[in-house]
Amino acid sequence: MNLKLLKEVIVHIKKTMKCPHCKTTFRDNNMHIIGTLPDEAFFQLYCPKCKANLLLHTAVETHRKHRKITTQKHHSIIEPDTISKDEVLDMHNFLKTFDGNFNSAFKNHK
Ligand SMILES: [Zn+2]
Repeated sequence: MNLKLLKEVIVHIKKTMKCPHCKTTFRDNNMHIIGTLPDEAFFQLYCPKCKANLLLHTAVETHRKHRKITTQKHHSIIEPDTISKDEVLDMHNFLKTFDGNFNSAFKNHK
């Protein structure tokens, strides 16, 4: 996904996504890009108000000049008090070494 498209997706998320818990909208510094594919992107959204974490999958369909962006929430929200420090650390380590290949990433975690 090129930068221009990625920016469009981010604008779309900021316009349409709200925290399912407290309805707070997300801003640039509450969004982390986990990885992108040519027409898809994965984001981690962090609610600044209630501290909920949300994994978001975004797919972009382009038909001529018309573009359709769909977003899908993945797994439910991870409550801040149900996630341990070890799990956060695991995720950090995973993201540090993650090369964008979901197939091999999931294979390694089985
Ligand atoms: Zn919230």
